[in-house]
Amino acid sequence: MTTATAGELSLPLELPPETKDLQERTRAFVEEHVMPLEQEAERLYGRLPQEKIDAVKQAGIAAGLNGGQHSPEYGGQGWSTLDWVVVEEQYGRSTNGIYWHVPGAYNVFHNASEAQAEKYLRPLIAGKMKDAYAVTEAEAGSDPSGIATTAERTGSGFRINGEKWFVTSGDIADVLIVMANVIDGDERLPTLFLVDIDTPGVEIVADPQFTHHYPEGHPTIRFTDVEVGEDAVVQGVGEGEDMQRAWFLEERLGIAARGVGAMWRLLDESVEWATNRVQGGNRIWDHQGVSFPLADSAADAAAGRLLTYQVAVLADGGADLKLVHAKASMAKLFVSEAAFRCADRAVQALGGRGYMRDYAPERLLRELRVDRIWEGTSEIQRLVVTRGLERRGVERMLH
Ligand SMILES: Cc1cc2nc3c(=O)[nH]c(=O)nc-3n(C[C@H](O)[C@H](O)[C@H](O)COP(=O)(O)OP(=O)(O)OC[C@H]3O[C@@H](n4cnc5c(N)ncnc54)[C@H](O)[C@@H]3O)c2cc1C
Repeated sequence: MTTATAGELSLPLELPPETKDLQERTRAFVEEHVMPLEQEAERLYGRLPQEKIDAVKQAGIAAGLNGGQHSPEYGGQGWSTLDWVVVEEQYGRSTNGIYWHVPGAYNVFHNASEAQAEKYLRPLIAGKMKDAYAVTEAEAGSDPSGIATTAERTGSGFRINGEKWFVTSGDIADVLIVMANVIDGDERLPTLFLVDIDTPGVEIVADPQFTHHYPEGHPTIRFTDVEVGEDAVVQGVGEGEDMQRAWFLEERLGIAARGVGAMWRLLDESVEWATNRVQGGNRIWDHQGVSFPLADSAADAAAGRLLTYQVAVLADGGADLKLVHAKASMAKLFVSEAAFRCADRAVQALGGRGYMRDYAPERLLRELRVDRIWEGTSEIQRLVVTRGLERRGVERMLH
């Protein structure tokens, strides 16, 4: 494979052998350890029994999938972005988020101090801890710059006050990555803090139900006079926004990669069904009303895959970061919208079975909906893309 230099597109038409091997290992893990649990997870509203969670976790670790892009120094795998995308694509072929049980850590920890890495990153990757990322608030969603959570300086550190919404995994997390504004005179400096869940003043005030049945919740967490030391700051006071952009980049690319995997699964299921189902003496596949929408799904899946892989290759090749951000938004926008269309078409092709929770298309129809909302809605991705078109230029955005 050739890698891209800044601004240059060079797609890996063949994956490098070690990436291909990783793809095969992840595929085997998903098919042997994840997919067989989907229906049980669905019936249990996403919450598998602990022994099954432990089995998935151990199988993921045995397959060398924990800690993905983090450094091997802390137990990670040191993957490239392309490696990571290939893995996420395989995870996307499954339902109910069961792969969440494979240990990992948010990319904020790339910026952790040595002490923070020892205290949190190593145990997170080993599966002995869980993290959650708390940015969104009741009045600050699409515009995270509007957050009201504050961190006032005390003699020994900071006192945090505020309330965070939709904190994924916040119900089981050991450590929260919290975005707060450090008050510095008239200035408000966006800063990320590592807050242990058992710190006095941290309280889960609501744990709402959501459309998908996933392993962990998205609770509302209140911080009342929560005292943390100087050592809770990640990287430095006022440096939260850059890390947040890096988090968005990773999450948006991950959503695109998993959406590509979901379209693959939807096509597998709907083509298999439609080519075998006979009604009125004919295969339903032979009705173009059934098969043509699936041709559209194949076009969506193949196009989304190319775009997603391209962003990964550009990121690995050190292309202009702003271009990579804009193209990651384009990938997230296209794939999340396309995957939802594909889920709807697959449900239609399966008829009444498509509406049954026992079938993957029904589960994916619900699960894929949030991909058009979280980590920036489709409208916000369109804003990023339009900025890219204006500032980076049409040609660089397209090629
Ligand atoms: C299941 C789930 C898990 C989540 N996990 C996390 C998490 O772990 N951590 C975290 O911090 N957050 C998390 N979120 C929050 C998520 O990122 C936000 O919900 C999302 O960014 C949208 O913000 P909002 O809900 O406040 O909607 P709003 O910002 O109120 O948007 C409402 C509507 O207005 C549109 N809109 C808003 N501004 C504009 C604009 N400028 N131009 C055009 N249209 C606009 C939006 O596109 C949307 O359609 C999660 C959300 C969900 C549903």
